[in-house]
Amino acid sequence: MKTAAEILAAFDNIRRAQNAGVYAPHKPLLILLALARVQRGEPRLVDFNDIEGPLKRLLVEFGRSGSANTRHLPFWHLRSDGQGAIWKLSGPRELLARPAATAPNLGELRLNHVRGGFPIAVDKALREQPGLLEAVAAQVMDAAFPETLHADIAAAVGLSLDRSTIIMAGERTAPAYVQSEHRHRDPGFRERVLRAYEYRCCVCGFDLRIGQVSAGLEAAHIQWHNVGGPDVEPNGLSLCSLHHKLFDLGAFTVEPSEFRVVFSQQAIGSQRGRDGELRHHGRPILPPQQRDMLPAPQYLGWNFKNVFKTPARRVGG
Ligand SMILES: [Zn+2]
Repeated sequence: MKTAAEILAAFDNIRRAQNAGVYAPHKPLLILLALARVQRGEPRLVDFNDIEGPLKRLLVEFGRSGSANTRHLPFWHLRSDGQGAIWKLSGPRELLARPAATAPNLGELRLNHVRGGFPIAVDKALREQPGLLEAVAAQVMDAAFPETLHADIAAAVGLSLDRSTIIMAGERTAPAYVQSEHRHRDPGFRERVLRAYEYRCCVCGFDLRIGQVSAGLEAAHIQWHNVGGPDVEPNGLSLCSLHHKLFDLGAFTVEPSEFRVVFSQQAIGSQRGRDGELRHHGRPILPPQQRDMLPAPQYLGWNFKNVFKTPARRVGG
């Protein structure tokens, strides 16, 4: 049996595909799906044909455009992470013997009923050590996605996450690791960004207060904090809860020349959606108090490339 600390460390070693600075959520989503299966007591190995559909739906919702086309890659490549400590495959020997560079295509994985899952020792530990599965899930989630999306992703993969169990498991097993690896959030970020935009949503102007306190207003990272986005005003937008969620899902972004809100062609609504959300399309954001607080092109560029669901709706007719 592996210790909880060993398992948490193995999952932390996953280096997400960062080819040319493109962030890929494939491996984290596959792992979360597999963890949910273990949590439900399903068998260790799953046929690619049975997990392909759910993974595709997750990539469409939480990945950038086109992510779902490469849904077979994490199923194949995850076995190379951590020297095989995370993922094992089972299937025809000549297929499995292929080097990493010649990954089978979707059809080959389907036809050969290649099965994948956590290694036996990891699977056993996840099933038997209370709180470990939840701690791994929280760690993978924290590393890959902003907090605004955690509850939605957990619901979509069918994972129940009790934060109190996770914290207990983390403290008991690997406190040093948890503290050293997590980037600190600057507690002043939210306040600075909200103040820069005068406590309004910069998309819709929402500025409700309860007494003296802003309600439903959040500071969004343009380049996600968990993938290196800094806690500075040019990487922040003051957004209401709804626009924060839509921004993190890639329904809209902000273009860097005139700071106009640009919605995705994939964001489609009936009458209420059109009158409500899409009326913001093409309009500049409400400006911050100072020009040097405006969103910086490099962060907007990251957001457009990695989060926004292309193609963009046209601006100006
Ligand atoms: Zn808003």
